[in-house]
This record gives sequence, structure tokens and C-alpha cells, in this order.
Amino acid sequence: MSKMPSASGCPFKINCNQKPCPFDGHGRLGELGEMQTHWLNCERCGLSKLRRHVVLGRGEIPAQLLMIGEAPGKSEDLRGEPFVGVSGIVLNHGIARAAERAEFLPTIYITNTVGCRPTERAHGENREPEYEEALACWPRIQELEQLVMPDMILFLGNEPERHLKPQFPWAEKVRHPAMIARAGGLGSGEYRIFVRKLEDLFKQLGDPKWIAAKGGSYHV
Ligand code: SF4
Repeated sequence: MSKMPSASGCPFKINCNQKPCPFDGHGRLGELGEMQTHWLNCERCGLSKLRRHVVLGRGEIPAQLLMIGEAPGKSEDLRGEPFVGVSGIVLNHGIARAAERAEFLPTIYITNTVGCRPTERAHGENREPEYEEALACWPRIQELEQLVMPDMILFLGNEPERHLKPQFPWAEKVRHPAMIARAGGLGSGEYRIFVRKLEDLFKQLGDPKWIAAKGGSYHV
């Protein structure tokens, strides 16, 4: 089952022995094939006009846990990967800490409600995605969900819940890592709550009884 510690070069500072590393920034993105090519050139909504990169996601496919955040920010737009800025530090540390405490690291794929950075102008501030933008990007989430086949979906913050709750009513939710960063980051009470919630979810995903009760897993 799990996969634990000691690690050099691991973004989470753990050693799960998974190869290829599900968090190496690319994971098994190549397996996305045609879907990847299609969405990386997408112009379904106005967010395509100011983006540098479509941020499809990162992690392993398939994966037990699909995390869905809000939208790419400036760093993510520049790099083409989700959660590589300050919020990524909080998320990565939180995953690592929760995995240590749960003694289980599920396979994870991370994406956002929209694939392109919402901003009003070049070099502008981030903003929340509009309803129409999330709607335009829904088929991307739908295709990813079918590829990832997650046992659990986790919303990171209010925005994915606002846009995707009707499609995934059983999804879990935690605070967005960017909010935790603003609330004091890794030393804050918000971070401890975040880690505890992730720990509980990781334990569920590593528990054969929980998997059996939900009707089995795609990943055993
Ligand atoms: S946000 Fe989604 S729908 Fe809009 S252009 Fe980007 S990938 Fe396409």
C-alpha cells in the first residue's frame, strides 16, 4: 500500500519509491495524448487571450485523488504547471505532512477549475473565474476526471465548489492553499487544520474498508 519516507529531490521530502515520480511537474502527462494537444491550444473562452500557457495539471494518471483548485496564477501561467507559487509551497508541505501522519500517500492529480489565468489585462492581478469561463472549461475537467478515475475529488477552496459542486456533489473540500499562505502559512492554525483534513482523507484512501464500503477502487 503506502510508500514512505526519506528523500532527496522530492518536492514533498518523502520517499514513496513511485516511478515515475507523480509530482515531477510532468507526471505521466504524455498519456493524455490527444486531450493534451487539444486543450493546450484551446480558445473556448476569453481567458485564452492573455494567457502564456494553458495549465492542464500535474500528477499521476490514473490517480486515487483528484485535487481541483481555482485557477492558475502568475507563476503557474509562466510555467504551465499548477501550484508552483506560494500556494504550491503550502500544498506540497501539507501533502507531505499529511502523508507522514497518515502513513499513506495516495496517487494524486492536481488541476484547476479553469486552465488559463483569469486576469483583466496583461501583467494584471489575478481574479476569480467567471461562470461562463468555468462552464467553457468544464469539458476539460470532465475529460480529466474520466482519465484520472479518482476514488475521491477534493476541492481546494470555494471557487471549485461554486462551479463544480453540482457535477461532483460527493467531493470533499479544504481551504485554498493561497488563503492559508495569507493567513500565516506553514505556522498557522489554518495550515494545521488543512493537514488534519488531508490526513483524514489519505487514511480513508488507504483503508480497504472505506474503499470496499464505497464499492471498490479503480486503483487496486
Ligand atoms: S480557461 Fe479552459 S476553456 Fe478557457 S481558453 Fe483556457 S482551457 Fe480553454
